[in-house]
Amino acid sequence: MRIDVPLFKITKQALLPIQGFWIDAAPFVIFFGILIAAHVLLHRGKHVQLWRRACQITAAFVFILFLHRCLCMLRGWIFALNKVGRNDIVAFGHLCMFVLLVSLTLAFGRLFCGWLCPLGLFSELLSIPARLRQRLPKGRRLIAGYLMLAGVLVVVTWFAWLVRPGTQFFSENIAAMWGASLLLFLAAVLPFELHDRRFKGVKYVSVVLWLGLSVIGVFVTSPWCTFFGDEIDYSSAVSLAAVLAGALIVPMAWCRYLCPMGGALGWLTKFSPIRVRKTTPCTNCGTCDTTCPMGALDRGEVDGSSCIYCGQCNRVCDYRFVREERKSEEDEA
Ligand code: SF4
Ligand code: SF4
Ligand code: SF4
Repeated sequence: MRIDVPLFKITKQALLPIQGFWIDAAPFVIFFGILIAAHVLLHRGKHVQLWRRACQITAAFVFILFLHRCLCMLRGWIFALNKVGRNDIVAFGHLCMFVLLVSLTLAFGRLFCGWLCPLGLFSELLSIPARLRQRLPKGRRLIAGYLMLAGVLVVVTWFAWLVRPGTQFFSENIAAMWGASLLLFLAAVLPFELHDRRFKGVKYVSVVLWLGLSVIGVFVTSPWCTFFGDEIDYSSAVSLAAVLAGALIVPMAWCRYLCPMGGALGWLTKFSPIRVRKTTPCTNCGTCDTTCPMGALDRGEVDGSSCIYCGQCNRVCDYRFVREERKSEEDEA
């Protein structure tokens, strides 16, 4: 079923068309510009959070409202590989953003999540109630968590019923199932939410499933489709509702545990030389643990695959982004 919403993209055709095609160089250039700016601004060290919000808001405007081009990069490379040798310009159109993202993540880390992804921005903003709840004593925190979870389950289920499709094919509903899985998964996570590192490996299962389904030809939609496409299908809309609702319970829940794109970027970041590191001895005050929106910190220890390079830990303690080679030299000295 299609939800009947008006088309919302401001630009209806390529701004900088390549060879007169639908393939647009504009998203490529803007994407590249924002991620390079993010890298420079993060390391410049002044008003980082202000600049980060500016980049996120710009990206949200450009990629949701302004440009006609869908930003999908999960399935794009599969379309592209199918076209190589037959229609290379179309292959390039599908592949260019994906290659750019992989290259910049390998070079600078997972900046896309912390500085560009609109879903990350909305998840982060919606995480405020969850972050306040995490400050409660354990018993009350848990009760409040389950009450909130019950509330969002009711609302999301009602929404899913309201927009339910006429048919029930597996492939039509898979993104919605992914979103529903997130909410059920949170029920298991809640008792351990402040020490949830063991649950974060699930994002790699998500990557493998997503890629596997795409390779065998299942048309997997995602929460991104609602934002980036110019039409909204039932499954994407329900998964988006579940993802946003999940952030109300545990900060950036989708990004922490299930986002396949985040999982892939988290894995790639392991090969990037730039990492966040604690540069002075830790006094075990615990402030950083709840400051990090991804829960990537545990008393000075950083879970590199969860870090989204947002720089918020810099504000509360001596965390710095360093080049790993430099750190090795310091260690040897
Ligand atoms: S983890 Fe996924 S949804 Fe979250 S910011 Fe990264 S790409 Fe976006
Ligand atoms: S804020 Fe700094 S001192 Fe406190 S737990 Fe985190 S790393 Fe340790
Ligand atoms: S470790 Fe620091 S830079 Fe990384 S996500 Fe957490 S707060 Fe942001």
